[in-house]
Amino acid sequence: VFAQIVRAPEDPILGVTVAYNKDPSPVKLNLGVGAYRTEEGKPLVLNVVRRVEQQLVNDVSRNKEYIPITGLADFNKLSAKLIFGSDSPAVQENRVTTVQGLSGTGSLRVGGEFLAKHYHQRTIYLPTPTWGNHPKVFTLAGLSVKAYRYYAPSTRGLDFEGLLEDLSSAPSGSIVLLHACAHNPTGVDPTLEQWEQIRQLIRSKALLPFFDSAYQGFASGSLDADAQPVRLFVADGGELLVAQSYAKNMGLYGERVGALSIVCKSSDVASRVESQLKLVIRPMYSSPPIHGASIVAAILKDGNLYNEWTIELKAMADRIISMRQQLFDALVARGTPGDWSHIIRQIGMFTFTGLNSEQVSFMTNEYHIYMTSDGRISMAGLSSKTVPHLADAIHAAVTR
Ligand code: PMP
Repeated sequence: VFAQIVRAPEDPILGVTVAYNKDPSPVKLNLGVGAYRTEEGKPLVLNVVRRVEQQLVNDVSRNKEYIPITGLADFNKLSAKLIFGSDSPAVQENRVTTVQGLSGTGSLRVGGEFLAKHYHQRTIYLPTPTWGNHPKVFTLAGLSVKAYRYYAPSTRGLDFEGLLEDLSSAPSGSIVLLHACAHNPTGVDPTLEQWEQIRQLIRSKALLPFFDSAYQGFASGSLDADAQPVRLFVADGGELLVAQSYAKNMGLYGERVGALSIVCKSSDVASRVESQLKLVIRPMYSSPPIHGASIVAAILKDGNLYNEWTIELKAMADRIISMRQQLFDALVARGTPGDWSHIIRQIGMFTFTGLNSEQVSFMTNEYHIYMTSDGRISMAGLSSKTVPHLADAIHAAVTR
């Protein structure tokens, strides 16, 4: 019965790793995947996470019972505080409903399905470009996907005029997906002044902001600074959605731990929204997993663990920033033609190099360097040892 099935294409991002794994070269370098690596190129489990895990394992009072459909209550409360701030009026007034999700992706999907079912405008505007999974997640959730301009290839920066123009002409009520910080794949974020203009436009047109927060703390190293754009929108009292991921900032990738928060106008509305979120979640996966959320809750709850976490988080962010500087310096030292200052200007895990797909193929074939065909490289996959190899490859690709 399945003989007619045609082979689906490899996921464009995860496919990079598949190709990398097949390459026997000792100098091969995987800059495709968006996961943090140490200077030694190894995955990192944070010390604070290891310690909390030990405590959880040793605590015999813990069991493996199902947790509620909406997840661990502590985890949800603490996640809302983390993104909105502990003094957030929306949190204090109980106007926020937060449910635990299967990392960022699952939280986006639940938010999308909720909107498709209960919101009057089923169109979501995504930035061009955006994380490759966004259009698929929201289309399958039942929303219709449209685009707004975001990135200007000519400046390798923000197309602010284009963004404002496109959001101005979006039908009133449309949903707008915004990357809270460290835009993937471009590494280009609006300034706080630009965010304020975006906020005014979104509110004046009654658009509904849906923030994707996959990199809080990873962009600047400060959890509060990276949450500023979201908090700007909460401060005006309007509604919004936020999907949070703990994949990057706590290194909990495979634990699939995240949260969806919906800020409402009153606590009564928030509780009705939550009752409907349960109906979205229950037939999808019934209830979320317990382990990752227990780790996060333990860290967020305890002042010492929290401080320890912020120190380890800042170290990851700083290493990435240092990789940007080293790569930039290496290209300048080689006299590589072109302006490479965007490497140090862009923010977060990725640099959108501006290399085209042909140059990317050349670098893969000749230098065994793997990245997505749009020229996005993960700065977290680089180390002081591998920067020269990458700089040589970029130099060769652009001077060919
Ligand atoms: N949104 C963006 C912009 C991302 O880059 C990612 C991770 N690549 C995610 C969401 C979701 O990741 P996860 O489901 O692993 O939390």
